[in-house]
Amino acid sequence: MSRAAEFVIVGGGTAGPVLAARLAEAGRDVVLVEAGPDYGPHGTPGWPVDLMDATTLALSHDWGYTGGDGRWSFERARVIGGCSAHNGAIAAVGHRADYDAWGLPGWTADDVAPIFKDVVETMRVRTYTDAEAVPFHRHCLEATRALGWKMISDLCDLDGNDGFGLESINVVGRTRWNAAFAYLDPVRDLPNLTILDRTLVDRFEETPTGVTVHAVREGQAVTLEAGTLVLAAGVYGTPLILQRSGIGDPERLRAVGVEPVLALPGVGANLHDQPLVVVDRVIGEALQADIDAAGATGFLPEEQTLGKAISSQSTDGLFDLHVFPVLAADQTHELHGRVGIVVSCVTPQSRGRIDIASTDPEAHPVIDHRYLHDEAGHDLAVLRDGIVLANEIFDHPAVAEHVGEAVTDFSTDDAIRANVAHYYHPVGTAKMGTDPNAVCDERGRVHGLSRVVVGDVSLFPQIMRANTNMPAVMTGERISRTLI
Ligand SMILES: Cc1cc2nc3c(=O)[nH]c(=O)nc-3n(C[C@H](O)[C@H](O)[C@H](O)COP(=O)(O)OP(=O)(O)OC[C@H]3O[C@@H](n4cnc5c(N)ncnc54)[C@H](O)[C@@H]3O)c2cc1C
Repeated sequence: MSRAAEFVIVGGGTAGPVLAARLAEAGRDVVLVEAGPDYGPHGTPGWPVDLMDATTLALSHDWGYTGGDGRWSFERARVIGGCSAHNGAIAAVGHRADYDAWGLPGWTADDVAPIFKDVVETMRVRTYTDAEAVPFHRHCLEATRALGWKMISDLCDLDGNDGFGLESINVVGRTRWNAAFAYLDPVRDLPNLTILDRTLVDRFEETPTGVTVHAVREGQAVTLEAGTLVLAAGVYGTPLILQRSGIGDPERLRAVGVEPVLALPGVGANLHDQPLVVVDRVIGEALQADIDAAGATGFLPEEQTLGKAISSQSTDGLFDLHVFPVLAADQTHELHGRVGIVVSCVTPQSRGRIDIASTDPEAHPVIDHRYLHDEAGHDLAVLRDGIVLANEIFDHPAVAEHVGEAVTDFSTDDAIRANVAHYYHPVGTAKMGTDPNAVCDERGRVHGLSRVVVGDVSLFPQIMRANTNMPAVMTGERISRTLI
Protein backbone atom coordinates (compact mmCIF):
# COMPACT_ATOMS: atom_id res chain seq x y z
CA MET A 1 0.00 0.00 0.00
CA SER A 2 1.20 3.51 -0.66
CA ARG A 3 -0.35 6.91 -0.01
CA ALA A 4 0.75 10.53 -0.37
CA ALA A 5 -0.22 13.35 2.00
CA GLU A 6 0.81 16.88 2.73
CA PHE A 7 1.39 15.93 6.37
CA VAL A 8 2.10 12.50 7.80
CA ILE A 9 1.90 12.53 11.59
CA VAL A 10 3.41 9.53 13.36
CA GLY A 11 1.79 8.76 16.71
CA GLY A 12 -1.91 9.08 17.49
CA GLY A 13 -1.13 9.41 21.21
CA THR A 14 -1.44 12.66 23.13
CA ALA A 15 0.23 15.38 21.06
CA GLY A 16 -0.48 13.56 17.76
CA PRO A 17 -4.29 13.96 17.82
CA VAL A 18 -3.88 17.67 18.55
CA LEU A 19 -1.55 18.12 15.59
CA ALA A 20 -3.81 16.07 13.32
CA ALA A 21 -6.90 17.99 14.37
CA ARG A 22 -5.40 21.44 13.98
CA LEU A 23 -3.84 20.69 10.59
CA ALA A 24 -6.98 18.95 9.26
CA GLU A 25 -9.22 21.80 10.47
CA ALA A 26 -6.95 24.17 8.55
CA GLY A 27 -7.78 22.21 5.40
CA ARG A 28 -4.45 20.40 5.10
CA ASP A 29 -4.30 16.83 3.85
CA VAL A 30 -3.30 14.71 6.87
CA VAL A 31 -2.53 11.04 7.50
CA LEU A 32 -2.25 10.13 11.19
CA VAL A 33 -0.37 6.89 11.75
CA GLU A 34 -0.71 4.98 15.02
CA ALA A 35 0.93 1.66 15.91
CA GLY A 36 -1.93 0.62 18.18
CA PRO A 37 -5.67 0.24 17.58
CA ASP A 38 -8.14 3.07 17.04
CA TYR A 39 -11.38 2.22 18.86
CA GLY A 40 -13.23 5.13 17.24
CA PRO A 41 -14.90 8.16 18.77
CA HIS A 42 -16.08 8.28 22.36
CA GLY A 43 -19.23 6.20 22.73
CA THR A 44 -18.25 3.59 20.15
CA PRO A 45 -18.86 0.12 21.62
CA GLY A 46 -15.61 -1.76 22.09
CA TRP A 47 -13.48 0.78 23.94
CA PRO A 48 -11.70 -1.38 26.55
CA VAL A 49 -13.07 -0.73 30.04
CA ASP A 50 -9.67 0.03 31.58
CA LEU A 51 -8.97 2.75 29.03
CA MET A 52 -12.13 4.53 30.14
CA ASP A 53 -11.86 4.04 33.92
CA ALA A 54 -10.13 7.06 35.42
CA THR A 55 -9.92 5.71 38.96
CA THR A 56 -6.76 3.71 38.27
CA LEU A 57 -4.03 3.54 35.63
CA ALA A 58 -4.67 1.45 32.53
CA LEU A 59 -1.98 -0.96 31.41
CA SER A 60 -3.65 -3.12 28.73
CA HIS A 61 -2.06 -1.47 25.67
CA ASP A 62 1.51 -1.13 26.91
CA TRP A 63 4.58 -1.39 24.66
CA GLY A 64 6.19 -3.57 27.36
CA TYR A 65 9.50 -1.75 27.72
CA THR A 66 11.65 -2.47 30.77
CA GLY A 67 15.06 -1.51 32.11
CA GLY A 68 17.52 -1.99 34.95
CA ASP A 69 17.57 -5.77 34.29
CA GLY A 70 13.82 -5.89 34.63
CA ARG A 71 13.70 -3.77 37.78
CA TRP A 72 11.61 -1.05 36.17
CA SER A 73 8.82 -1.15 33.64
CA PHE A 74 8.74 1.93 31.42
CA GLU A 75 5.04 2.18 30.62
CA ARG A 76 4.00 3.74 27.28
CA ALA A 77 0.61 3.17 25.68
CA ARG A 78 0.20 1.77 22.16
CA VAL A 79 -3.31 2.87 21.25
CA ILE A 80 -5.12 5.89 19.85
CA GLY A 81 -4.95 8.46 22.65
CA GLY A 82 -1.55 7.08 23.66
CA CYS A 83 -0.51 7.66 27.24
CA SER A 84 -3.43 10.05 27.72
CA ALA A 85 -5.60 6.91 27.42
CA HIS A 86 -3.58 5.03 30.10
CA ASN A 87 -2.65 7.71 32.56
CA GLY A 88 -3.71 9.02 35.95
CA ALA A 89 -5.53 11.96 34.32
CA ILE A 90 -3.96 14.40 36.78
CA ALA A 91 -3.82 17.78 35.06
CA ALA A 92 -0.95 20.12 35.90
CA VAL A 93 1.16 22.64 34.01
CA GLY A 94 4.13 23.45 36.24
CA HIS A 95 5.42 26.91 37.01
CA ARG A 96 6.01 29.82 34.64
CA ALA A 97 9.73 29.74 35.54
CA ASP A 98 10.00 26.32 33.88
CA TYR A 99 9.11 27.65 30.44
CA ASP A 100 11.03 30.91 30.79
CA ALA A 101 14.14 28.91 31.75
CA TRP A 102 14.11 27.14 28.37
CA GLY A 103 15.04 30.44 26.74
CA LEU A 104 13.30 29.41 23.53
CA PRO A 105 11.36 31.90 21.37
CA GLY A 106 7.67 31.01 21.37
CA TRP A 107 7.88 28.88 24.54
CA THR A 108 8.02 31.49 27.32
CA ALA A 109 5.37 31.31 30.02
CA ASP A 110 3.59 34.26 28.42
CA ASP A 111 3.58 32.41 25.09
CA VAL A 112 2.25 29.11 26.44
CA ALA A 113 -0.22 30.52 29.01
CA PRO A 114 -3.01 31.24 26.48
CA ILE A 115 -2.43 27.84 24.85
CA PHE A 116 -2.76 26.12 28.24
CA LYS A 117 -6.01 28.02 28.79
CA ASP A 118 -7.49 26.41 25.64
CA VAL A 119 -5.95 23.02 26.46
CA VAL A 120 -7.44 22.91 29.95
CA GLU A 121 -10.86 23.74 28.51
CA THR A 122 -10.68 21.26 25.63
CA MET A 123 -9.37 18.46 27.88
CA ARG A 124 -12.30 19.25 30.21
CA VAL A 125 -10.16 19.75 33.29
CA ARG A 126 -11.85 20.29 36.63
CA THR A 127 -10.73 20.07 40.25
CA TYR A 128 -12.07 17.52 42.74
CA THR A 129 -14.41 19.01 45.33
CA ASP A 130 -14.12 18.53 49.10
CA ALA A 131 -17.31 16.48 49.01
CA GLU A 132 -15.65 14.00 46.65
CA ALA A 133 -12.60 13.42 48.86
CA VAL A 134 -12.31 9.72 49.71
CA PRO A 135 -10.83 8.27 52.91
CA PHE A 136 -7.09 8.74 53.44
CA HIS A 137 -7.06 11.70 51.03
CA ARG A 138 -9.55 13.36 53.36
CA HIS A 139 -7.32 12.60 56.34
CA CYS A 140 -4.24 13.95 54.54
CA LEU A 141 -6.08 17.18 53.71
CA GLU A 142 -6.89 17.58 57.38
CA ALA A 143 -3.32 16.81 58.46
CA THR A 144 -1.63 19.17 55.99
CA ARG A 145 -4.03 21.99 56.87
CA ALA A 146 -3.15 21.49 60.54
CA LEU A 147 0.56 21.27 59.73
CA GLY A 148 0.41 24.71 58.14
CA TRP A 149 0.54 23.84 54.45
CA LYS A 150 -1.13 26.50 52.28
CA MET A 151 -4.31 25.10 50.78
CA ILE A 152 -4.37 25.24 46.94
CA SER A 153 -7.13 24.42 44.52
CA ASP A 154 -5.70 24.55 41.01
CA LEU A 155 -2.73 22.64 39.60
CA CYS A 156 -3.07 24.39 36.24
CA ASP A 157 -1.92 27.77 37.52
CA LEU A 158 1.46 28.80 36.12
CA ASP A 159 1.87 31.26 39.01
CA GLY A 160 1.06 28.75 41.76
CA ASN A 161 3.81 27.78 44.19
CA ASP A 162 3.81 25.43 47.18
CA GLY A 163 0.70 24.13 48.92
CA PHE A 164 -1.56 21.11 49.29
CA GLY A 165 -4.97 20.48 47.81
CA LEU A 166 -7.36 18.42 45.76
CA GLU A 167 -6.08 17.54 42.32
CA SER A 168 -7.14 18.90 38.96
CA ILE A 169 -8.18 16.11 36.59
CA ASN A 170 -9.25 15.58 32.99
CA VAL A 171 -12.06 13.21 33.84
CA VAL A 172 -15.64 13.36 32.57
CA GLY A 173 -18.00 11.39 34.81
CA ARG A 174 -15.64 8.52 35.54
CA THR A 175 -14.06 8.50 32.11
CA ARG A 176 -10.44 9.44 31.48
CA TRP A 177 -10.86 12.14 28.84
CA ASN A 178 -8.03 11.28 26.49
CA ALA A 179 -6.57 13.51 23.78
CA ALA A 180 -8.26 11.50 21.02
CA PHE A 181 -11.72 12.15 22.51
CA ALA A 182 -10.89 15.81 23.02
CA TYR A 183 -9.22 16.61 19.70
CA LEU A 184 -9.80 13.85 17.13
CA ASP A 185 -13.50 13.20 17.68
CA PRO A 186 -14.62 16.62 16.39
CA VAL A 187 -12.64 16.19 13.13
CA ARG A 188 -12.94 12.47 12.43
CA ASP A 189 -15.41 13.04 9.59
CA LEU A 190 -13.24 15.50 7.68
CA PRO A 191 -12.41 14.05 4.23
CA ASN A 192 -8.84 15.40 4.40
CA LEU A 193 -8.00 13.35 7.54
CA THR A 194 -7.08 9.66 7.36
CA ILE A 195 -6.31 7.63 10.49
CA LEU A 196 -4.13 4.60 9.80
CA ASP A 197 -4.17 2.53 12.98
CA ARG A 198 -2.23 -0.70 13.74
CA THR A 199 0.54 0.70 11.54
CA LEU A 200 4.09 0.68 12.84
CA VAL A 201 6.49 3.23 11.37
CA ASP A 202 9.95 1.83 10.86
CA ARG A 203 12.02 4.65 9.32
CA PHE A 204 12.02 7.47 6.78
CA GLU A 205 14.26 9.19 4.28
CA GLU A 206 14.14 12.76 2.98
CA THR A 207 13.79 13.09 -0.81
CA PRO A 208 14.19 16.26 -2.89
CA THR A 209 10.42 16.87 -2.67
CA GLY A 210 9.42 15.43 0.68
CA VAL A 211 9.84 12.47 2.98
CA THR A 212 9.29 8.78 2.27
CA VAL A 213 8.01 6.93 5.34
CA HIS A 214 8.30 3.15 5.61
CA ALA A 215 5.79 1.37 7.83
CA VAL A 216 4.20 -2.05 8.37
CA ARG A 217 0.46 -2.73 8.69
CA GLU A 218 -0.69 -6.26 9.54
CA GLY A 219 2.49 -7.70 8.02
CA GLN A 220 2.21 -5.66 4.81
CA ALA A 221 4.65 -2.91 3.84
CA VAL A 222 3.16 0.59 3.75
CA THR A 223 4.89 3.52 2.05
CA LEU A 224 3.77 7.05 2.74
CA GLU A 225 4.98 10.06 0.77
CA ALA A 226 4.82 13.09 3.04
CA GLY A 227 5.27 16.75 2.22
CA THR A 228 6.21 17.15 5.88
CA LEU A 229 6.73 14.39 8.42
CA VAL A 230 5.71 15.16 12.00
CA LEU A 231 7.05 12.79 14.64
CA ALA A 232 4.74 12.57 17.66
CA ALA A 233 5.64 9.00 18.58
CA GLY A 234 6.52 9.96 22.15
CA VAL A 235 9.69 10.19 24.22
CA TYR A 236 10.73 6.65 23.32
CA GLY A 237 9.14 6.22 19.86
CA THR A 238 10.36 9.46 18.31
CA PRO A 239 14.13 8.96 18.90
CA LEU A 240 13.86 5.32 17.88
CA ILE A 241 12.39 6.26 14.48
CA LEU A 242 15.11 8.89 14.03
CA GLN A 243 17.83 6.36 14.92
CA ARG A 244 16.44 3.67 12.59
CA SER A 245 16.51 6.36 9.88
CA GLY A 246 20.24 6.88 10.44
CA ILE A 247 19.92 10.07 12.50
CA GLY A 248 21.80 10.03 15.79
CA ASP A 249 25.22 9.32 17.21
CA PRO A 250 27.10 7.74 14.26
CA GLU A 251 29.12 5.31 16.39
CA ARG A 252 26.10 4.01 18.23
CA LEU A 253 24.17 3.66 14.95
CA ARG A 254 26.95 1.67 13.27
CA ALA A 255 27.17 -0.60 16.31
CA VAL A 256 23.63 -1.84 15.59
CA GLY A 257 23.98 -1.99 11.81
CA VAL A 258 22.47 1.36 10.81
CA GLU A 259 24.37 3.46 8.26
CA PRO A 260 24.51 7.03 9.63
CA VAL A 261 22.75 9.64 7.47
CA LEU A 262 23.00 12.65 9.78
CA ALA A 263 25.15 13.03 12.90
CA LEU A 264 22.95 14.31 15.74
CA PRO A 265 24.43 12.85 18.94
CA GLY A 266 21.59 14.25 21.05
CA VAL A 267 19.00 11.85 19.59
CA GLY A 268 18.00 9.59 22.50
CA ALA A 269 20.12 11.54 25.00
CA ASN A 270 18.82 13.92 27.69
CA LEU A 271 16.24 11.29 28.72
CA HIS A 272 14.88 12.24 32.12
CA ASP A 273 11.91 11.61 34.38
CA GLN A 274 11.00 12.65 37.89
CA PRO A 275 12.27 10.01 40.35
CA LEU A 276 10.01 9.04 43.23
CA VAL A 277 9.69 6.81 46.26
CA VAL A 278 6.52 5.62 47.96
CA VAL A 279 6.69 6.14 51.72
CA ASP A 280 4.25 3.58 53.07
CA ARG A 281 2.45 2.58 56.25
CA VAL A 282 0.23 -0.34 57.18
CA ILE A 283 -3.50 0.46 56.79
CA GLY A 284 -5.46 0.52 60.03
CA GLU A 285 -8.55 -1.68 60.18
CA ALA A 286 -11.01 1.20 60.29
CA LEU A 287 -9.36 2.91 57.32
CA GLN A 288 -9.46 -0.33 55.36
CA ALA A 289 -13.18 -0.61 56.10
CA ASP A 290 -13.74 3.01 54.97
CA ILE A 291 -11.77 2.38 51.79
CA ASP A 292 -13.77 -0.79 51.10
CA ALA A 293 -17.02 1.13 51.62
CA ALA A 294 -15.90 3.90 49.24
CA GLY A 295 -14.78 1.25 46.75
CA ALA A 296 -18.23 -0.34 46.85
CA THR A 297 -19.67 2.89 45.39
CA GLY A 298 -17.43 2.36 42.37
CA PHE A 299 -15.62 5.66 42.89
CA LEU A 300 -12.26 5.26 44.60
CA PRO A 301 -9.53 7.22 42.83
CA GLU A 302 -6.01 6.12 43.78
CA GLU A 303 -4.81 9.70 43.54
CA GLN A 304 -6.88 12.66 44.62
CA THR A 305 -4.72 15.10 46.60
CA LEU A 306 -1.28 16.55 45.99
CA GLY A 307 1.24 18.75 47.73
CA LYS A 308 3.88 20.94 46.12
CA ALA A 309 6.78 21.59 48.48
CA ILE A 310 10.08 23.45 48.50
CA SER A 311 13.11 21.34 49.41
CA SER A 312 16.42 22.55 50.82
CA GLN A 313 17.83 22.20 47.28
CA SER A 314 15.52 24.78 45.71
CA THR A 315 17.53 27.80 44.58
CA ASP A 316 14.62 29.84 43.22
CA GLY A 317 12.21 29.67 46.14
CA LEU A 318 9.87 27.52 44.06
CA PHE A 319 8.57 24.04 44.74
CA ASP A 320 10.66 21.13 43.55
CA LEU A 321 8.77 18.31 45.25
CA HIS A 322 5.44 16.61 44.67
CA VAL A 323 4.16 14.92 47.82
CA PHE A 324 0.96 12.98 47.17
CA PRO A 325 -1.03 10.32 48.98
CA VAL A 326 -1.95 7.20 47.00
CA LEU A 327 -4.26 4.29 47.55
CA ALA A 328 -1.75 2.00 45.88
CA ALA A 329 1.35 0.73 47.54
CA ASP A 330 3.44 0.25 44.41
CA GLN A 331 3.25 0.01 40.64
CA THR A 332 0.98 -3.05 40.81
CA HIS A 333 -1.73 -0.55 41.86
CA GLU A 334 -2.92 -2.81 44.66
CA LEU A 335 -3.15 -1.83 48.31
CA HIS A 336 -1.32 -4.86 49.73
CA GLY A 337 -2.42 -3.73 53.19
CA ARG A 338 -0.59 -0.40 52.84
CA VAL A 339 -1.23 3.22 51.94
CA GLY A 340 1.48 5.44 50.55
CA ILE A 341 2.60 9.01 50.28
CA VAL A 342 4.64 9.42 47.13
CA VAL A 343 7.45 11.93 47.06
CA SER A 344 8.92 12.92 43.73
CA CYS A 345 11.71 15.29 42.75
CA VAL A 346 10.03 17.27 39.97
CA THR A 347 13.20 19.14 38.94
CA PRO A 348 15.48 16.18 38.16
CA GLN A 349 19.07 16.78 37.11
CA SER A 350 19.96 13.15 36.26
CA ARG A 351 20.06 12.27 32.60
CA GLY A 352 19.90 8.92 30.80
CA ARG A 353 19.40 7.79 27.23
CA ILE A 354 17.50 5.47 24.88
CA ASP A 355 18.96 3.58 21.94
CA ILE A 356 17.72 1.12 19.38
CA ALA A 357 19.01 -2.39 20.01
CA SER A 358 18.53 -3.47 16.39
CA THR A 359 17.03 -2.34 13.10
CA ASP A 360 13.83 -4.32 13.80
CA PRO A 361 11.06 -1.76 14.59
CA GLU A 362 9.41 -4.25 16.98
CA ALA A 363 12.63 -4.84 18.93
CA HIS A 364 12.65 -3.34 22.40
CA PRO A 365 15.14 -0.49 22.85
CA VAL A 366 17.86 -0.14 25.49
CA ILE A 367 16.54 2.38 28.03
CA ASP A 368 18.86 3.65 30.74
CA HIS A 369 17.24 6.35 32.85
CA ARG A 370 20.11 6.70 35.37
CA TYR A 371 17.76 7.81 38.15
CA LEU A 372 19.55 9.61 41.04
CA HIS A 373 22.86 9.64 39.14
CA ASP A 374 23.45 13.39 38.87
CA GLU A 375 26.92 14.25 40.13
CA ALA A 376 25.84 16.83 42.70
CA GLY A 377 23.39 14.40 44.30
CA HIS A 378 20.58 16.93 43.83
CA ASP A 379 17.80 14.48 43.00
CA LEU A 380 18.56 12.23 45.98
CA ALA A 381 18.75 15.22 48.35
CA VAL A 382 15.33 16.46 47.19
CA LEU A 383 13.83 13.01 47.81
CA ARG A 384 15.39 12.92 51.28
CA ASP A 385 13.54 16.14 52.20
CA GLY A 386 10.34 14.78 50.69
CA ILE A 387 10.52 11.65 52.82
CA VAL A 388 10.65 13.84 55.94
CA LEU A 389 7.52 15.69 54.78
CA ALA A 390 5.67 12.45 54.01
CA ASN A 391 6.46 11.12 57.46
CA GLU A 392 5.26 14.37 59.05
CA ILE A 393 1.90 13.90 57.34
CA PHE A 394 1.73 10.24 58.38
CA ASP A 395 2.64 11.17 61.97
CA HIS A 396 0.01 13.88 62.33
CA PRO A 397 -2.87 12.55 64.46
CA ALA A 398 -5.39 13.13 61.63
CA VAL A 399 -3.58 10.42 59.66
CA ALA A 400 -1.66 8.56 62.37
CA GLU A 401 -4.83 7.21 63.97
CA HIS A 402 -5.71 5.47 60.67
CA VAL A 403 -2.35 3.82 59.89
CA GLY A 404 0.12 1.46 61.50
CA GLU A 405 3.88 1.17 61.33
CA ALA A 406 6.17 2.17 58.47
CA VAL A 407 6.82 -0.62 55.98
CA THR A 408 9.68 0.40 53.68
CA ASP A 409 12.94 1.59 55.19
CA PHE A 410 14.16 4.94 53.86
CA SER A 411 16.69 5.67 56.57
CA THR A 412 19.77 5.60 54.31
CA ASP A 413 20.65 6.84 50.84
CA ASP A 414 21.16 3.23 49.77
CA ALA A 415 17.64 2.41 50.92
CA ILE A 416 16.27 5.33 48.89
CA ARG A 417 18.23 4.21 45.83
CA ALA A 418 17.01 0.65 46.29
CA ASN A 419 13.39 1.81 46.17
CA VAL A 420 13.50 4.56 43.56
CA ALA A 421 10.82 4.41 40.87
CA HIS A 422 9.57 6.91 38.28
CA TYR A 423 6.59 9.20 37.85
CA TYR A 424 5.69 8.05 34.26
CA HIS A 425 6.82 11.41 32.88
CA PRO A 426 9.88 10.74 30.68
CA VAL A 427 10.81 13.59 28.31
CA GLY A 428 13.70 15.16 26.46
CA THR A 429 15.08 12.71 23.87
CA ALA A 430 14.98 15.12 20.91
CA LYS A 431 15.41 18.36 22.75
CA MET A 432 15.01 21.83 21.30
CA GLY A 433 17.93 24.22 21.43
CA THR A 434 21.16 25.27 19.80
CA ASP A 435 23.80 23.43 21.86
CA PRO A 436 25.64 20.45 20.36
CA ASN A 437 23.18 17.98 21.92
CA ALA A 438 20.09 19.79 20.66
CA VAL A 439 18.10 17.84 18.08
CA CYS A 440 15.43 20.37 17.06
CA ASP A 441 14.97 24.09 16.78
CA GLU A 442 12.22 25.95 18.62
CA ARG A 443 9.77 25.12 15.82
CA GLY A 444 10.43 21.42 16.34
CA ARG A 445 12.34 21.13 13.05
CA VAL A 446 15.09 18.52 13.21
CA HIS A 447 18.46 20.26 12.75
CA GLY A 448 19.89 19.38 9.35
CA LEU A 449 16.60 18.18 7.85
CA SER A 450 14.17 20.42 6.02
CA ARG A 451 10.89 18.51 6.22
CA VAL A 452 10.93 16.60 9.49
CA VAL A 453 9.42 18.08 12.63
CA VAL A 454 9.12 16.67 16.16
CA GLY A 455 5.88 17.48 17.99
CA ASP A 456 5.83 15.70 21.36
CA VAL A 457 7.42 15.68 24.83
CA SER A 458 10.74 14.55 23.35
CA LEU A 459 11.26 18.26 22.66
CA PHE A 460 11.50 19.39 26.29
CA PRO A 461 15.07 20.42 27.22
CA GLN A 462 14.17 20.20 30.93
CA ILE A 463 10.96 18.82 32.37
CA MET A 464 8.48 21.31 33.84
CA ARG A 465 7.72 20.77 37.55
CA ALA A 466 4.48 19.03 36.63
CA ASN A 467 2.83 15.93 35.28
CA THR A 468 3.33 15.98 31.52
CA ASN A 469 -0.05 15.26 29.89
CA MET A 470 -1.26 18.88 29.64
CA PRO A 471 2.24 19.98 28.52
CA ALA A 472 2.14 17.25 25.81
CA VAL A 473 -1.20 18.56 24.54
CA MET A 474 0.13 22.13 24.67
CA THR A 475 3.11 20.97 22.59
CA GLY A 476 0.80 19.57 19.92
CA GLU A 477 -0.98 22.93 19.79
CA ARG A 478 2.26 24.91 19.81
CA ILE A 479 3.92 22.95 17.01
CA SER A 480 0.75 22.83 14.89
CA ARG A 481 0.75 26.66 14.89
CA THR A 482 4.21 26.67 13.32
CA LEU A 483 3.01 24.36 10.53
CA ILE A 484 -0.21 26.02 9.41
C1 LIG B 1 0.88 5.02 33.31
C2 LIG B 1 1.04 6.50 33.07
C3 LIG B 1 0.49 7.41 33.96
C4 LIG B 1 0.62 8.78 33.74
N1 LIG B 1 -0.05 9.65 34.53
C5 LIG B 1 -0.10 10.96 34.18
C6 LIG B 1 -0.97 11.85 34.86
O1 LIG B 1 -1.74 11.48 35.74
N2 LIG B 1 -0.95 13.16 34.49
C7 LIG B 1 -0.12 13.62 33.51
O2 LIG B 1 -0.12 14.83 33.25
N3 LIG B 1 0.70 12.78 32.83
C8 LIG B 1 0.69 11.46 33.12
N4 LIG B 1 1.46 10.60 32.40
C9 LIG B 1 2.34 11.15 31.35
C10 LIG B 1 1.60 11.65 30.11
O3 LIG B 1 0.48 10.84 29.85
C11 LIG B 1 2.58 11.65 28.93
O4 LIG B 1 3.69 12.48 29.22
C12 LIG B 1 1.96 12.14 27.63
O5 LIG B 1 0.75 11.46 27.40
C13 LIG B 1 2.95 11.91 26.49
O6 LIG B 1 2.36 12.33 25.28
P1 LIG B 1 3.11 12.10 23.88
O7 LIG B 1 2.19 12.59 22.83
O8 LIG B 1 4.47 12.69 23.95
O9 LIG B 1 3.32 10.53 23.75
P2 LIG B 1 2.29 9.31 23.76
O10 LIG B 1 1.01 9.66 24.39
O11 LIG B 1 3.05 8.15 24.30
O12 LIG B 1 1.98 9.07 22.22
C14 LIG B 1 2.88 8.48 21.34
C15 LIG B 1 2.10 7.59 20.38
O13 LIG B 1 2.96 7.20 19.32
C16 LIG B 1 2.72 5.85 19.00
N5 LIG B 1 3.95 5.33 18.40
C17 LIG B 1 5.16 5.17 18.99
N6 LIG B 1 6.04 4.65 18.12
C18 LIG B 1 5.38 4.48 16.94
C19 LIG B 1 5.77 3.97 15.66
N7 LIG B 1 7.02 3.55 15.43
N8 LIG B 1 4.83 3.92 14.69
C20 LIG B 1 3.55 4.37 14.91
N9 LIG B 1 3.14 4.84 16.12
C21 LIG B 1 4.04 4.90 17.11
C22 LIG B 1 2.39 5.22 20.34
O14 LIG B 1 1.69 4.00 20.20
C23 LIG B 1 1.58 6.30 21.03
O15 LIG B 1 0.20 6.18 20.79
C24 LIG B 1 1.36 9.24 32.60
C25 LIG B 1 1.91 8.32 31.71
C26 LIG B 1 1.74 6.96 31.93
C27 LIG B 1 2.31 5.98 30.94
